[in-house]
Amino acid sequence: MGTTCKTSAGKGQDANLQREFLEKEKRKPDGIQSKLTQNAIKTNFPNAMKNRDVEQKTFEVLHNLGFTYENTLFADSSCPDEINHNGDDITSMFMHRWGEMFPLSGLAGLPFAGQTGWGAFSSHCPKDGNIVICFAPHVGVDCNGTVGKVHRNGIENTTTACGAAVGAYNAVAGNQDPNQFKNGYADHQMDCIKHLVADRVKNIKGADNEMATLAFQMYEIISEFLDNIIDMKWGGQNSKIAIVGGIMINCDGARTDRFLPLKFELVHKSGARDDIFKGTFGFEPYVSNNDYKKSTRDY
Ligand SMILES: [Zn+2]
Repeated sequence: MGTTCKTSAGKGQDANLQREFLEKEKRKPDGIQSKLTQNAIKTNFPNAMKNRDVEQKTFEVLHNLGFTYENTLFADSSCPDEINHNGDDITSMFMHRWGEMFPLSGLAGLPFAGQTGWGAFSSHCPKDGNIVICFAPHVGVDCNGTVGKVHRNGIENTTTACGAAVGAYNAVAGNQDPNQFKNGYADHQMDCIKHLVADRVKNIKGADNEMATLAFQMYEIISEFLDNIIDMKWGGQNSKIAIVGGIMINCDGARTDRFLPLKFELVHKSGARDDIFKGTFGFEPYVSNNDYKKSTRDY
C-alpha cells in the first residue's frame, strides 16, 4: 500500500482496485463447518457476524455521512498475530475500503502507539477529512468449541488465541501484585498487559467461560486505552472519527473468522459522540453476563 497517494492522478485507479477486491471477497464462500464451534460462538458471543457483513454495514453508514476513500484514513488496533491479518480478516477489509492502514497497536491489540502515535497518524489525515478506527481483541474458538484455542496451519495441536492475553491472565491469576512485572524495554508490552489484566482477575476467575470473559475484559481494556489517546486536535470543523469496536473470533480453517460488534460511534470536532450502533446493526451491543467492574488502576 506504500505507493497509494490520495492526491495523485492515480487515486481513481487505486479506488477501483480496492472496490474490485471487496467485490471478489463478497463472492467467495465462507462458513463454519463445526457445530461445536457454532454453538460455542452462539453461547459466548451472540450476534457475532461475518466480517464482510460488519464491514459492509459500517461502510454504508459512513458513506452516507460523507466518508470516502479520498478523505478518510484508517487506523487498526488489533493484535499483530498473523491470524488477524491474513487477507480475509476484518482489518484487511477496512484497509481495502479506506485505502491505507496505520497500526496503532501491539500485543493483544492494545494501542501502544499511544498519544504520540495518534498525533502522528491524525496529522496525516487529508484536509477536512475523517478517520475510521477498528479496534478489537481476538479469541480463538477451535473445532471442538474450545474458546481461547485455534488450529494454525502446520501445527499439530491447537494453540492459544490471543496468546498474549491468555499468557498475561495465566501469569497474574494467582498473584496480582503489579510490582512483579519489571522486564524493562525487553518485554514492556507484556508487562503492561499483565498490569492491566491483574486488576480484572476478579472479574474473570470462576466465570462460566473464563477465556470468553477474558476477551470481553480485553475489549474494555483496549476501549479505555484508546479513549485516553485519541483527540480531535486535527482536521476541520466537520472532521469526524468513526470508531468500530468488537471482538475478533478466530475459527479453524480458512474464511471462517467472525466479528462480534460491540461499539459503533462517531466522534465530532467538539468531542461529542453519537452512538450509531443500533441504527446500523439493528440490535443492541451484547453485554457479557460477567459482573464487570471498571479498573481503578492507572497505567
Ligand atoms: Zn493475540
